[in-house]
Amino acid sequence: MINVTKTFFPPINEYQKHVQRIWDNQWLTNRGELVLELEEKIKKYLDVSNIIVTNNGTIPLQIALKLLGNKGEIITTPFSYVATTASIVWENCTPVFVDIHPDYLTIDETKIELAITDKTTAILATHVFGNPCHVDAIEAIAKKHHLKVIYDAAHCFGVQYNDKSIFYYGDVSTCSFHATKLFHTGEGGAMFANDADLQQKLFYSHNFGHNGPLAFHGLGINGKISELQGAMGLAVFPYMEIILSERKKVVDFYNDNLDFSKLKSITIRENTQWNYSYYPIILESEIQLLEVLSRLNDLAVFPRRYFYPSLNTVEYTKGAVMPVSESIASRILCLPLYVGLMEGDLNRIVKVINDTIC
Ligand SMILES: *Cc1c(COP(=O)(O)O)cnc(C)c1O
Repeated sequence: MINVTKTFFPPINEYQKHVQRIWDNQWLTNRGELVLELEEKIKKYLDVSNIIVTNNGTIPLQIALKLLGNKGEIITTPFSYVATTASIVWENCTPVFVDIHPDYLTIDETKIELAITDKTTAILATHVFGNPCHVDAIEAIAKKHHLKVIYDAAHCFGVQYNDKSIFYYGDVSTCSFHATKLFHTGEGGAMFANDADLQQKLFYSHNFGHNGPLAFHGLGINGKISELQGAMGLAVFPYMEIILSERKKVVDFYNDNLDFSKLKSITIRENTQWNYSYYPIILESEIQLLEVLSRLNDLAVFPRRYFYPSLNTVEYTKGAVMPVSESIASRILCLPLYVGLMEGDLNRIVKVINDTIC
């Protein structure tokens, strides 16, 4: 069986070596030695000025919205994983959808200003499949209208834009270290902020608001990650270069062999160093997609309809019509992409797709 992704498992003895340290330390959570070491390693690797590692990639979105969204209207994309929109609603803010660009698949920055009202407090946009939003245009709009910018950068571990980490852009950027993501800790995530005050607020917010054992800065939640997850992160981390280069091989294979006269993939924004996190194909119609899906399923290949559905159509946000996002969501399929996918399997996948769409 071939799924859309397969979790990268480091050699178990390397994981056990880190787990042994937890037993030696007799220290299981509350930012122990392993988590602190992981933060330092990630900081160096990504060349970012700060990072707060968290228990998943959704809590940082909620914390950022709690601090910056202020129960207002949040301009956001309908083309993302449901966590993006759900976080907005969960934090008692109101999602205001802006349609996406048909090639980049990120929020259409030229339509953002039309959606701004006096209730708008922030923009929450997703760097889709590791493809950066038009961050410069969004920053200019945010400055002009005094809005905060939060990026759901769940897919973006290792992505660079204009020669620096994509996590530098926006007031806050978040990432996910879920088992299905490029770099993972089983469950986990991170948040980044450039402003020192905001960074401090994010920090105490992820630890119940604590300011020392007995005092509090303010309201907080539990966003902490345990040492067990830290051990997984430290065991996966040395394989990042291999993970990236093996994924690149799969992406190159799809690029070289799929029949692009009848389908398209994503257009990666210029000046981006991408991370090969997903391989989406956009078919001509949903009927064609279902046909491709069914023929691949017959071969025990299970790509994923991702993102689907367009988030302006879920029950608790229903209303707005987003023609581009709804159209793309109905026709997009993420193909299998992981370390260890064999060339024979890739050949079969590509042949079925090309034969079905011809
Ligand atoms: C995976 C993902 C999240 C949520 O991350 P978790 O770590 O699973 O909480 C949020 N947004 C996007 C775009 C994602 O792909």
